[in-house]
Amino acid sequence: MSEPLLIELSKKGRKAYCFPALDLPRGFESALPSLPSSLLRQTKARLPEVSELDVVRHFTRLSTLSFGVDNGCYPLGSCTMKYNPKISEKLAMLEDFTTIHPLQDSSTVQGCLSVMYNLLEDLSSITGMSWGTLQPCAGAHGEYTGLKMVRAYFLKKGEARRNKVLVPVSAHGTNPASAALNGFTIVTVASDDEGLVDIDDLKSKLDDSVAAFMLTNPNTLGLFEKNILLISSLVHEAGGLLYYDGANLNAIMGNATPSDMGFDLLHLNLHKTFATPHGGGGPGSGPVMVKSFLRPFLPGPDIELTDSGYTYNWLASDSIGKVSMFWGNFLVLVKAYIYILRMGSEGLRAASSHAVLNANYMLHRLKGTFEIPYGDTCMHEFVISCQNFKQEYGVSAEDIAKGLIDSGYHPPTMYFPSLVHEALMIEPTESESKETLDEFTDTLIGIAERAKKDPQWIHGCPWTTPVGRLDTAKAVKEPDLHY
Ligand SMILES: *Cc1c(COP(=O)(O)O)cnc(C)c1O
Repeated sequence: MSEPLLIELSKKGRKAYCFPALDLPRGFESALPSLPSSLLRQTKARLPEVSELDVVRHFTRLSTLSFGVDNGCYPLGSCTMKYNPKISEKLAMLEDFTTIHPLQDSSTVQGCLSVMYNLLEDLSSITGMSWGTLQPCAGAHGEYTGLKMVRAYFLKKGEARRNKVLVPVSAHGTNPASAALNGFTIVTVASDDEGLVDIDDLKSKLDDSVAAFMLTNPNTLGLFEKNILLISSLVHEAGGLLYYDGANLNAIMGNATPSDMGFDLLHLNLHKTFATPHGGGGPGSGPVMVKSFLRPFLPGPDIELTDSGYTYNWLASDSIGKVSMFWGNFLVLVKAYIYILRMGSEGLRAASSHAVLNANYMLHRLKGTFEIPYGDTCMHEFVISCQNFKQEYGVSAEDIAKGLIDSGYHPPTMYFPSLVHEALMIEPTESESKETLDEFTDTLIGIAERAKKDPQWIHGCPWTTPVGRLDTAKAVKEPDLHY
């Protein structure tokens, strides 16, 4: 399975090119400007000498060693690895989008500006918010931007004392991190027995030093916070703002809006909910959408539609300034816009409904084999616990996740959220067929059954990959990348 480097495939004299015979006069080199000898190589570069077929086969084999949604089911909870329509990729590669520069005169990039303007309009209606910014380049970057606006808002109001941000224990790790980067103190809110925000604990922590409560709904256990309207009124009575982590809007898009639930501002992950290939660090886009009272604090420039077309508006009175390059990750915006146009509002609603249906179907099929610590039904994702396997057979969530790799699946998210022991967080997305859901659940159940009888085997999984089981902590801290 392991693939040699091109240099290992090299055979002296083999080549993949064919130049016409040299037709320059003898001695032509002396007419070229000479380079300082310090810049010249002393020995010839050691380059692989390979045929075209060697190169094509090498890269084709390599391409099959990385896993993506195009290879198979990728149920990575919280990451929404949905199918990315090929038409979006094709259109985003149009020269009209790829060969422009953001500092061109705005009259020459009206098409691009209209994509961004229309996208902001669509995202406003999808979230029920008033307007937003497309600059942030990831979910975490959106959180950072949103909280920076929260800080600016309270400073302007003369409430600088509001220096705390509340986050539930089940929150995505980026939530407390973004709050800390903005200088807020983080206060954790407990979960109750149902896995929802503990209302009494929330009440005890709300006072006039709280700037915002950051919440995702459905939460990271895949459960809908049914007390959201109560939560919203409690936070607002205390003078705080309610921030929605909308990375996983896939569960509610088209059926409910964060605005209906009382949120004041939010970020979206276009690279999850709106189908952009992601993983491995990018590319992403995390627009921030706000209610009208926060609009003056948005990063500039804004895009406006005037009688003479789309123009930039730099005049937002209380803008927090720029948070990234001019247009953010523009091609991700293009792909999200194409996705929205192609789906239409009915299509977006159907996508969330199917995402929820698929997750519930899997949850119910896995119930007999795995412990489901919270909730009988779920939204777009659910969390199973492998704790009984750990206790009885010494088989961990990680073992079972690695076992899936040999069967051609990407493992689910592991050990998150931290309030579930030996957690596997599964999000099938709307894209998968019933057959795939059945195959995946059968495989997972089969692995769990075999693991009980054959712990040696499961501890060694995966067996079919170029490198076997890595020490994950060591692999992160001391990556061995040399050849
Ligand atoms: C993915 C995710 C984030 C962070 O998004 P990035 O683009 O990875 O920075 C934040 N919150 C939740 C709930 C997420 O799932």
